[in-house]
Amino acid sequence: MGNDKKASEGGSVKALPTYCTVGGCGKKADKSTFCGQHFLWFKEGLINRKGEKPRDFDRKYHAFTMKQKKAA
Ligand SMILES: [Zn+2]
Repeated sequence: MGNDKKASEGGSVKALPTYCTVGGCGKKADKSTFCGQHFLWFKEGLINRKGEKPRDFDRKYHAFTMKQKKAA
């Protein structure tokens, strides 16, 4: 809960993987080691820093999608 991680501004770290580390994603990593979508998941606590899903991922994902609908 509460992973309020601020994106470091002005950083130009290029030693990161090119592709999203979430298994089966394969998209280009835009933010940190995630693609835009999975970075959002990480921020929301759906996946950990390694891109792994928790046991209760389904439940979290459901809550996340509900939240997204409300925010839209
Ligand atoms: Zn991804």
